[in-house]
Amino acid sequence: MSRILEGVGASAGRALGPVHWIDWDIPLVPHRTIRPEEVADEVERFAQARARALELVSHLQAETAHRIGQFEGKVFESQAMMIEDPDLIQGTLSYVRDNFVSAERAFDWQVLEMRIRMQESAHAMLVDRLADLHDVRVRVLSHLLGRGDPGDLVTDMDEPSILLGTELPPSIAARLDPARILGVVLSGGSRGAHGVILARALGIPVIVAVGRSLDSIADGDRLLIDGRTGEMRINPSPQAVEGFHRAIAQATHRREALQKVAGQPTKTKDGVQTVVQANLELPHEAEEAARLGADGVGLFRTEFLVIGRREIPGEEDQLREYRTVLEAFPGREVTLRTFDIGGDKFPLFLHLPPEDNPYLGWRGIRICLDMPELFGNQLRAAIRASADGNIRLLIPFVSTVEEIQRTRDMLTEAYAALGQEDSGARVPLGVMVETPAAVELLDLLAPYVDFVSLGTNDLTQYVLAADRGNGNLGKLYDPLHPALVRMYRRVVEESVRHELDLSVCGELAGDVLGVAALLGLGYRKFSVAVTGLPEIREVLRNVSAEGLSNLMRKLDRAESGDEIRRAVARYLTENGVLPDPVPIGLSGE
Ligand code: PEP
Ligand code: MG
Repeated sequence: MSRILEGVGASAGRALGPVHWIDWDIPLVPHRTIRPEEVADEVERFAQARARALELVSHLQAETAHRIGQFEGKVFESQAMMIEDPDLIQGTLSYVRDNFVSAERAFDWQVLEMRIRMQESAHAMLVDRLADLHDVRVRVLSHLLGRGDPGDLVTDMDEPSILLGTELPPSIAARLDPARILGVVLSGGSRGAHGVILARALGIPVIVAVGRSLDSIADGDRLLIDGRTGEMRINPSPQAVEGFHRAIAQATHRREALQKVAGQPTKTKDGVQTVVQANLELPHEAEEAARLGADGVGLFRTEFLVIGRREIPGEEDQLREYRTVLEAFPGREVTLRTFDIGGDKFPLFLHLPPEDNPYLGWRGIRICLDMPELFGNQLRAAIRASADGNIRLLIPFVSTVEEIQRTRDMLTEAYAALGQEDSGARVPLGVMVETPAAVELLDLLAPYVDFVSLGTNDLTQYVLAADRGNGNLGKLYDPLHPALVRMYRRVVEESVRHELDLSVCGELAGDVLGVAALLGLGYRKFSVAVTGLPEIREVLRNVSAEGLSNLMRKLDRAESGDEIRRAVARYLTENGVLPDPVPIGLSGE
């Protein structure tokens, strides 16, 4: 009898295969006491083990940069930082000197203390770093215990498999071969963990945060996973397996068919021209986005260039990354969203104590305006990159007019620093409408900006007072809630009134029902995750803008998101558009 488990989808894609548990751990560190005269030797052994671990980490960084990308290589910087962490070193040495225990025992205690502090903080960024700490622990202890490098754990399988574990340490992720590793499922982990970012960059489906129920899966079981929805089926029935193969064949067929029309414009059935751009998290995604026919980049989340870094990213570093994206989109819009750090993303260089309400705290433009060096580097890099392409700058988390005024001033200063004038030909500036204040103040923000991008992800959490990352809130976090749908309509009206270019970059635009509703409300420009490009373009080609506009008018007085969703789904089904609502990877039973 097959069973279904659920986690959080962290890297889209489906897979079917036998499971292989990874045990990247040092099960038992022996308790060994030392004599006072041995202290110096233990201190030296510890220094050597750290040096060796650092060497391996920098080797992995170089290998990853070469195999996957420069940015991906940088995920190892935080491990290097942990190995050199003064508290970790001093704490270990104190245990050796004061308690006369071996270097491995002392180091293990220190790591344990650090781990507890990180777990207690409940700070998303710190929780993301737990897998890095685990990696460092295993690496340093392996040297101290004379076990050699434990990095070949994922190559000793007989056949291509789905990896199971508690976390995915970056040093394992960096070595994954997509031909042999069909997918990864973790009881812990998070979307932002370094190992998960690497697996995503390699195109491997990943599910995280399954919890302890994952332990019920044993080596030898077979698993069917859907990395988009986070669902998995253990020992699927022959019908489910057949359904999976059929779905894969259909998806391949559909992808091929959609790729044939990749270069064609996305017009609705009634001839309304729409624009579908890509949301990028990493520069190297640009190439795939261009191949799938994206009309430029509507949102490049540049903060992924700073997370895990211990220094403010330099102008030259950024320029290189921005040019990578521009190269994939010659002449097309490339919208750089300035660093949206804070919330759940804290780079290490901020050295911030956790905030009680990080989503209502020091975030996005607030941090950038308070840190002129950080913001200045980014603005200058963007201006310089604009010589090579069509760059636009998008400002996140704006809630006051002053923030946009000050951003304009800083942009003028950045031009001056480069010996250029902030003329009419400057980089277009846009505001993310993702706080209720920005919706209300759009007419006052309009004189300072050239374009507007609707951020439905944050707007939903701020309007409904429902944390976007809190799984317990379930249906409460609903971007199609009538309160939001009414706001979306007002944003269209204000943008038209003030002649502002308007797009949507929140996840709602990448949802089949969402994009149809938005089209009906008057939106014409959408920016969606790279994997969603073909599907969203197909939906837009098969609906009528006028038909959906009439429908959304009728739904002006809808009382719930479900009512809106049901009505839009009915419209799509009647027009033969809605794909099978059952996640295809799991259908057939
Ligand atoms: C949004 O809030 O809708 C958005 C696109 O930004 P992010 O998801 O990066 O916060
Ligand atoms: Mg946002």
